[in-house]
Amino acid sequence: MGLRKGDQYVEGLKNRQHVAIYVMGKRVNDITTNLFLKPSVMSFKATFDAAFEEDTIDLARVYSPIVGEEVNRFNSLHSDPRDLVAKVKLLRKLSHKTGTCFQRCVGWDGLNTLYIITRKMADRGVKTYHDNFMKYLEYVQRRDLALAGAMTDVKGVRALKPSEQPNPDAYVRVVEERDDGVVVRGAKANITGIAAVDEVLVMPTRAMTEKDAQYAISFAIPLDTPGVKVVVGRQLNDGRRAEGGEIDGLPYMFNHEGLLIFEDVFVPWERIFLYRDWTWAGLLVEVFSYYHRQGYAGCKSGLGDVIIGAAYNLASQIGVAGKAHVEDKLVEMTFLNETMYSAGLAASWEGKKVAEGPGGWWVNPMYANVTKHLVTRFPYEISRLAHDIAGGILGTGPSEFDLKNPEVRQLLEKYLQGVPEFTAEDRLRILRLLENVSISVAYLIESVHGAGSPQAQRISIQRIYDYKYAEEIAKRLAHMSKKPLSGVEPRRASDVEKT
Ligand code: SF4
Ligand code: FE
Repeated sequence: MGLRKGDQYVEGLKNRQHVAIYVMGKRVNDITTNLFLKPSVMSFKATFDAAFEEDTIDLARVYSPIVGEEVNRFNSLHSDPRDLVAKVKLLRKLSHKTGTCFQRCVGWDGLNTLYIITRKMADRGVKTYHDNFMKYLEYVQRRDLALAGAMTDVKGVRALKPSEQPNPDAYVRVVEERDDGVVVRGAKANITGIAAVDEVLVMPTRAMTEKDAQYAISFAIPLDTPGVKVVVGRQLNDGRRAEGGEIDGLPYMFNHEGLLIFEDVFVPWERIFLYRDWTWAGLLVEVFSYYHRQGYAGCKSGLGDVIIGAAYNLASQIGVAGKAHVEDKLVEMTFLNETMYSAGLAASWEGKKVAEGPGGWWVNPMYANVTKHLVTRFPYEISRLAHDIAGGILGTGPSEFDLKNPEVRQLLEKYLQGVPEFTAEDRLRILRLLENVSISVAYLIESVHGAGSPQAQRISIQRIYDYKYAEEIAKRLAHMSKKPLSGVEPRRASDVEKT
């Protein structure tokens, strides 16, 4: 089958059987025409179209030795640091095309993670999971499937391990083993793009102990497998999608997240990539989350470009773009934006090969965490500065339907206009775009919590930085020690580098 165009992806979604997706209390059979979810489909679709559009074709396609032809990069393995760089650049570019999260990176990070983990297991003598995974990867690449990655369990009582929970299904677990596979139960939360995919890759969300063995499971199944249910979450301003307008809901594309529920779902053995071997669960989480932390450099800096551009245009519309205080704010926004991006590029160029074979290139652990930690803060400041430049009208402006009422329109045309080159409608269009992007789930809340909350990065940074080595550097200069120093950066190996 090979590379699919966006329209083929959308057609494929219509062919799913038994898919159980709930939006605001109603079951939705065809999400491609549902007013609430269609914008998410359009955003996901952009990842397919990118492989055919002139300005992204080189970034979005890559040769795969697994199938011997070009595949969509979103289903590829990283075989070189340049692949990691291309990921960040592709994500920045796709943010420009969508103005939101395009939802396909979690499945991609899941594929690269499972390659590394199953390959390491194979190197230690357990070959089944790597065989299963490589067959699955070939299947995904040949069909150019849309994947979601599902890691975060609902977690119940946060201080308790999976096996200690009052609700035994607070983490996804195996409830029955059969000759042909297993039956799983539980739920995964905040799953990006989940209603808009062909298949979902499920992974454990934390390190486990022997008692948690039934929870140590990773697998992939089609979303329309019987027993799988999706409850889609709400977002700010989502009601505008149903108003039938063409300005207030700009940029027309949005991501969605959902609760993914497994009500005794059958998974065949050949679709299982980890089971009962709890020792690998923590490692899998480390590999996955650092991949996703690196990726945020791309998509969030791309959204930053949209916001900076909108703020610049609004300043131009009211004749203040050349004023020193506005220029200063724009420079500050640019500095913050490019800092996030630079950290992600460093995480890519300084990537590490941690598993043999065609994949196995992983991000630099320190810089991936630094990237995501910057992303938990800088988008809020970039948004604040953009709101400052935009003025109070960002929160008080009229609706596009006022503009469509001839009586009101002539007044708005007179009183909303700044410099004569731009109309009142121009002003409203950029304001709405800025509002919907800069206060969105994709730019703010996801920036804090996606790929791990801020505390998760702080723990990682603390573990990776070698404080003893830094102390030696200081002690030498203070003539307290003559110990020879070796490396440049004070670093301790992450768990996956040690394994
Ligand atoms: Fe991709 Fe960014 Fe969305 Fe994650 S938040 S899926 S990296 S676009
Ligand atoms: Fe995300």
